[in-house]
Amino acid sequence: MKFPINVKLNNNRLTAYPRSSHDISKLIKFCNRNNINIVPTGGETNRVGGTNPYKNQKNIFIDFKYMNKIEEIDGDNLICTAQSGAKLIEVQKRSNNRGLFFPVNIAPNDKCTIGGNISTNVGGLQTLRYGNIEDHVNGLEVVLSNGDIINFESKLKKDNFGPKLWKLFIGSEGIFGIITKANLKLIPKKKYKTTYLIQINSLLKSIHLYKKIRDIYFDNLISYEIIFPIPSSIIFKNDSYNLILEVSSNDKENLSKNLKKIFNQYKLKIDKIEKNKSKSNIWKKREEIVHKQKQLNFNHKFDISLPLSNWQIFLNKINNFISQESCYTPYFFGHLGDGNLHCNFKITDDDMIKKNALSKFIFELVVQLKGSIAAEHGIGTQKLNLLKKYKSKEYYKFLKNLKKHMDKKLIMGKGKLL
Ligand SMILES: Cc1cc2nc3c(=O)[nH]c(=O)nc-3n(C[C@H](O)[C@H](O)[C@H](O)COP(=O)(O)OP(=O)(O)OC[C@H]3O[C@@H](n4cnc5c(N)ncnc54)[C@H](O)[C@@H]3O)c2cc1C
Repeated sequence: MKFPINVKLNNNRLTAYPRSSHDISKLIKFCNRNNINIVPTGGETNRVGGTNPYKNQKNIFIDFKYMNKIEEIDGDNLICTAQSGAKLIEVQKRSNNRGLFFPVNIAPNDKCTIGGNISTNVGGLQTLRYGNIEDHVNGLEVVLSNGDIINFESKLKKDNFGPKLWKLFIGSEGIFGIITKANLKLIPKKKYKTTYLIQINSLLKSIHLYKKIRDIYFDNLISYEIIFPIPSSIIFKNDSYNLILEVSSNDKENLSKNLKKIFNQYKLKIDKIEKNKSKSNIWKKREEIVHKQKQLNFNHKFDISLPLSNWQIFLNKINNFISQESCYTPYFFGHLGDGNLHCNFKITDDDMIKKNALSKFIFELVVQLKGSIAAEHGIGTQKLNLLKKYKSKEYYKFLKNLKKHMDKKLIMGKGKLL
């Protein structure tokens, strides 16, 4: 088979290396004619099997390593224009060099790419203050399944000249088209940041404290992370709940007196304070939680969002459920401020019935409490049945019809989402 662009066998995967949107367009037209499934890949750091091939068909992977340029940092309009293969860390660094800030950050920022980040609508450690990446995209260039290249690029803050159709490509994991370029919104960098590691004795108190700080210092509170007692005992060697708070401002004192007053009112133990550190030990510990969970087999994972007021109800019901069986050990941590926690378990009994019973209980509870069972990692190939089962019939029908319209031959990301 003669492909229209450079293609190589890489780790048993047939992989295309486009150098432009035109290359991608040619490739897609070819795949349409030959019924080949297209799997775009970024850093492959997604958590849901989003770059798995479709088993019953030929697949071609797209590697964006030659489409990784940051084309422009426009300081007048506060826009960074980057090709989809640009690494997140490069966007952060290049913005920083210009005294600007790209307010999206996740641990594997040196591996993941802007295309992958947008396709998964990445959240992360600063979503609380700045939102997911969807809040920082101003325009895109995309290639559709028929090979059409659509230029939705824009530096405008206001533009209601037609609906913003490009938003469909955010968070849709490559099933509607290929993202080739993005206009990303930057903001001026704040001068000072302080990170606190604090011990606290309950979830309820953590939520109370969060609301108090948020209501006064909304603009300055960047991260509010919680680590439950089991990861805490392993990582921080204490049995409390631990909080990581980050605040940022242009004032040298950076709220420290006011925050200390509040921490004193709550009788909290501050274990560590870091000021303006580029390599933070506190955040390094936070990353360790993720690595340790794998080593210690806390592999039954749930990525859950709930309205803040429902987290304690959820916790009570889960504790009640797992107290009846000795095989479940919880390992909870996450982005409490934005309502998203990673609720992971070790299940010592190697019994599918136990695993399924826990999953069913949690999914139904989350739906009942008006939450989301795929809060930040998306659906990929691993959570397919959940969308069908737990979204409304009308939602699922709408998504299927849209997919049929956008990708008639169903060659984009087969086996994902639907
Ligand atoms: C240690 C660790 C911590 C993490 N923390 C977070 C976190 O805090 N918050 C969070 O949200 N996620 C987190 N993630 C998940 C992951 O990093 C994100 O999903 C990330 O955005 C994926 O980017 P990527 O470049 O690796 O994409 P990939 O994994 O390569 O691809 C992701 C999806 O996007 C599609 N895709 C890739 N490029 C394109 C393109 N150009 N056009 C169309 N579709 C495309 C792929 O087919 C796939 O479906 C974490 C992962 C790890 C390993």
